[in-house]
Amino acid sequence: MATIDDAVAGLSALAKKLSPALKRLGIETIRDLLLYFPVGHEDRTRLTPLRELHGQFDPVTTKGRIELLQSKRSFYRKQIICEGVVGDGTSSLRVVWFGNKFIHHILKVGDEVYLTGRVTEDRYGLQMSSPEFEKVNKEESIHHAKIVPRYALTKNITQRHLRSIMTSALPTASELVDWIPHTLRDRHGFMLLSDAITKIHFPKDFKELRLASKRLAFDELFRVQLRAGLTRRELHSTTAVSISIQETLLKEWVLKLPFTLTDDQKKSAWQIIQDMTRGYPMNRMLAGDVGSGKTAVAALVIQHSHLGGYLSVLMAPTDILVRQHFETLQKLFAGTECTIGLYTRTQHLFCGMTQEEMTKKEFIKLLKKGAVDILVGTHALIYEPVEFHKLALVVVDEQHRFGVGQRRKLKERSVEKYAPHFLSMTATPIPRTVALTLYGELDVSVIKEKPKGRKPIITRIAAEQNRDVAYAFIANQIDRGRQVFVVCPLIDPSDELEVSSVEETYVVLKDGPFKKYAVAMLHGKMKPSEKEEIMKKMVAREIDVLVATSVIEVGVDVQNASVMMIEGAERFGLAQLHQFRGRIGRAQHQSYCILFPSVAVRHIPERLSIFEKINDGFVLAERDLELRGAGDLYGIQQSGFPDLKIAQLSDIELVELATLEATRIINEDPELNKYPELWTSVKEWEEGSVHME
Ligand code: ADP
Ligand code: MG
Repeated sequence: MATIDDAVAGLSALAKKLSPALKRLGIETIRDLLLYFPVGHEDRTRLTPLRELHGQFDPVTTKGRIELLQSKRSFYRKQIICEGVVGDGTSSLRVVWFGNKFIHHILKVGDEVYLTGRVTEDRYGLQMSSPEFEKVNKEESIHHAKIVPRYALTKNITQRHLRSIMTSALPTASELVDWIPHTLRDRHGFMLLSDAITKIHFPKDFKELRLASKRLAFDELFRVQLRAGLTRRELHSTTAVSISIQETLLKEWVLKLPFTLTDDQKKSAWQIIQDMTRGYPMNRMLAGDVGSGKTAVAALVIQHSHLGGYLSVLMAPTDILVRQHFETLQKLFAGTECTIGLYTRTQHLFCGMTQEEMTKKEFIKLLKKGAVDILVGTHALIYEPVEFHKLALVVVDEQHRFGVGQRRKLKERSVEKYAPHFLSMTATPIPRTVALTLYGELDVSVIKEKPKGRKPIITRIAAEQNRDVAYAFIANQIDRGRQVFVVCPLIDPSDELEVSSVEETYVVLKDGPFKKYAVAMLHGKMKPSEKEEIMKKMVAREIDVLVATSVIEVGVDVQNASVMMIEGAERFGLAQLHQFRGRIGRAQHQSYCILFPSVAVRHIPERLSIFEKINDGFVLAERDLELRGAGDLYGIQQSGFPDLKIAQLSDIELVELATLEATRIINEDPELNKYPELWTSVKEWEEGSVHME
């Protein structure tokens, strides 16, 4: 008898034959098979008597005895056709299978069978085409007269196959050790793990299915929360430099800023600075909608680290942003002794020196010696051959999480091997349940209010026939001194897809409606130096209209821009659209976001209408979660989304329950020895999910 950790091939001859296909589904052991959850279920509990059948779209299940069966080769279709009649004494049904050579080896006249399929009606009466069938045996049936599971399939494996081998694997489910304490199970009436696994495949009824899914969903969320708890615990027992607060100097610096910080900016900065006095590494996320002024908060925190005599590193996802941050910091720190460096694969800049005046080697030497106070670079900085002197603070812009591996790398790169304080900044508004699940190990500061004087952006979906009106409107904005972004979905013109490409749009606009103005183009295939040149000109107002791909999606800050026109708008997700819109309305000017769906689009997706009405990124994210589910939320894939197969992040109650219970367990068992199975399970799971790094 096979046990749960045996290879799946040991289950049966069928399992052995299917094992290459199973492997493609990630199933190697029997345990893997049991944990291969269905994607849905089909209710075949109700048998429709033959006499009640009628032509209908939805498949039905019925039962009858085979009265006639014959196979023949079809002349037209050049394949085997097997035809039969099934009856039950009161009525009969024609059945036909195409291309199945084996039917007449399996079934014979006189057999009683279950049939599931779609019934059609023609002038000869009712017919079922290629139904799923199963002989009615004395033993319990696998495929009919019950709720049957439906799985994600791959080549050479069918639902029938999977259901059959799953059935033979079920007895081993009793070997599964329940990893959650029985007190917890009892408190919430959760099913035993082995029961839940059995019922998720073959539930007796839908209530049982609900309970099984609930137990398994809880397990997923609970593990995520426990792991977050472990990470927190580990961080709290790690030593980091404690930087004491120099209040007077900080305040002086803040007073010199070109604007007054908002209360939320001050509050967030204060929370962050407090974290850095505690002696263990800060692990915090600064969340604030596009344009809420996160950079200034980062700068203030960096100043705190600098006053303590430490190096800070600021990382951003694109060359364009790195350059922008470098320049912003240079402005904010002008007149201080703080030295700022920029380092990317292609560029290094330090204190106004050009690349020619200082080689990369010399730059790296300076950095190691501690001559740089703030270093700005891309996220790839940690993979470069650099060494940091007295690194205390790492700020990562536009990325949610920083993996354990990346943290380790940073520490290795630093000369003194301090564990750095870590701050991530994101504009992706994250619904509460998602934040709890994804970022349970992070403390969060939120900037809600935007700087004073910002006007809500006006968003409109424009019809193609109004293009000229839109262009005239945009021209008028330019005449008033404003600048314009035009975003297009693709770089290369393509005939099949009616999608505006940057190059095409650029030519059309430059030679047509905006002939009078300075039009430029920006896309990801350009050299960093070219991109930089264009951005420089845009900031210097030498460009009126910038036609770009999504390279300008995040972070770009051109205060004078007041129009964001988006071509092929239906091709972008809500969060991405919101990021585009975030490029405008960054100062006092009334700003406008104009959406042009592709010409070929007949129905405007609901998403766009929602986007037109809602300006608040947070509300948008909630709607996005409702519309599409969390897996699709912008940025979540890239940030290492935990493998939730059953849990729904829209299930607020269960997410909160898992959070609560995880906190309870960690408080109850701080030494991690009271519930050994539980901690083993969490750690094993962690090792299994490599993409969490
Ligand atoms: P984001 O949060 O999207 O990164 P930024 O930090 O780029 O936003 O700030 C957006 C713009 O708002 C910048 O041009 C910045 O100079 C400006 N800004 C930031 N804080 C304030 C403030 N308190 N008052 C006025 N303008 C501000
Ligand atoms: Mg930003």
